[in-house]
Amino acid sequence: MIRFKNDFGIRAQDVFAYIGPHIKQCCYEIGSDVQKAFELPDGTKKLSLSLQAVKQMEAFGIKRIYVNSHCTCHETEMFYSYRRQPTDSRMMSIISV
Ligand SMILES: [Zn+2]
Repeated sequence: MIRFKNDFGIRAQDVFAYIGPHIKQCCYEIGSDVQKAFELPDGTKKLSLSLQAVKQMEAFGIKRIYVNSHCTCHETEMFYSYRRQPTDSRMMSIISV
């Protein structure tokens, strides 16, 4: 966000963030290394990546954040998931202004 502001003059209040489909907390199991890296309570076994991203964006003052509700891991009909089954297929995201 600092680069957005310094390099492009984009203010936090002008940013709209969209977090696309991703592995959700229901399926994202973590080890103690990740639990410690995110400073989660001892014994935490699953992580919400989108919650962590939202917290970071909110800390920068971004208020308009939309999080897609789909889980790429267990919604097998719609998405690839390397965690579910290693594959050469990938998903793509786009950032636009
Ligand atoms: Zn899931």
